[in-house]
Amino acid sequence: MRAAVVTSFDQPLEVKDVALPEPGPGQIQVRVEASGLCHTDIHAARGDWPVKPTPPFIPGHEGVGIVEKTGPGVTLHAVGDRVAIPWLGYACGTCEYCLTGWETLCESQLNTGYAIDGGHAEYLIADADYTVAVPAGIDPVEAAPLTCAGVTTYKAVKVGGVTPGDRVAIFGIGGLGHLAQQYAQIFGGETIAVDVTEEKLALAKQLGASHVVNAATTDPVEAITALGGADVAVVLAASPKVLEQAHASLRRGGRLVLVSLPKENAMALPIFQTVLKGISVLGSIVGTRADLAEVFRLHAAGRTRVFYETRPLTEINAAIEDVLASRVPARLVLIP
Ligand code: ZN
Ligand code: ZN
Repeated sequence: MRAAVVTSFDQPLEVKDVALPEPGPGQIQVRVEASGLCHTDIHAARGDWPVKPTPPFIPGHEGVGIVEKTGPGVTLHAVGDRVAIPWLGYACGTCEYCLTGWETLCESQLNTGYAIDGGHAEYLIADADYTVAVPAGIDPVEAAPLTCAGVTTYKAVKVGGVTPGDRVAIFGIGGLGHLAQQYAQIFGGETIAVDVTEEKLALAKQLGASHVVNAATTDPVEAITALGGADVAVVLAASPKVLEQAHASLRRGGRLVLVSLPKENAMALPIFQTVLKGISVLGSIVGTRADLAEVFRLHAAGRTRVFYETRPLTEINAAIEDVLASRVPARLVLIP
């Protein structure tokens, strides 16, 4: 099968033929139809994070495809089913986190496209229990970005405790932000979209944002404070400065939800304002299988729109350059 393989952290990915793996017990073999390109794939391919994957490996954790073979003991999916293979490729199923609906915090988890070969290939092998059925009627190319960008922002909005009437500021309207905004609106929030490009703010308007703020020309803290402050701020831009702005734009009792992972790994947290304004600072990491099933149900019901562009898998290195240079409108989806 053809796959995009990371052979070394300082080299581009190699698109080449590799052996087609067979499913073992509890596993399924999936023929990939679409595989979204997430920024995490780029960090994986370059070995940017403290815990590094081991080359050679195949990145990709927004894979969607058809089950071609099932290994012994698989009951959840049958040959011919369409499934999504998310970042959480395996969890122990028995620890305190797994048992209380927080499998995403399992200390024994293995991540797709990192510890386990991922979706940027013609086929992949997945632990059946950690894949999620894609309902009929959802285009697999749209299901791909929902598998990470969608579930991650859906969870962030849940973690932020958005309730009807809350003012929700979304910092960064891209592959993740345009979905975060829609989920905040589904939960009843009045959204404020913050970005530095007019194009993305126009998209936010089109998707129903109540307010847009161009942070390149306007101070977002002043603009949001003038609106009364935000009840919830969800930060998707990977910048400590943006996190600090988001904190400062909260009203009393506000919740700051951290999703992006800036390489600086630190932000200034003003203690007086946090204490006196009763602000909560929350981290949110991807979402569970149940969250992803909800994301798919909402999309099947026509409640969300996914903005994406497709590229052939063979052009993955050019696609990575485009993502790094912010030359893409929303999400890129690779087609094997
Ligand atoms: Zn991702
Ligand atoms: Zn566990």
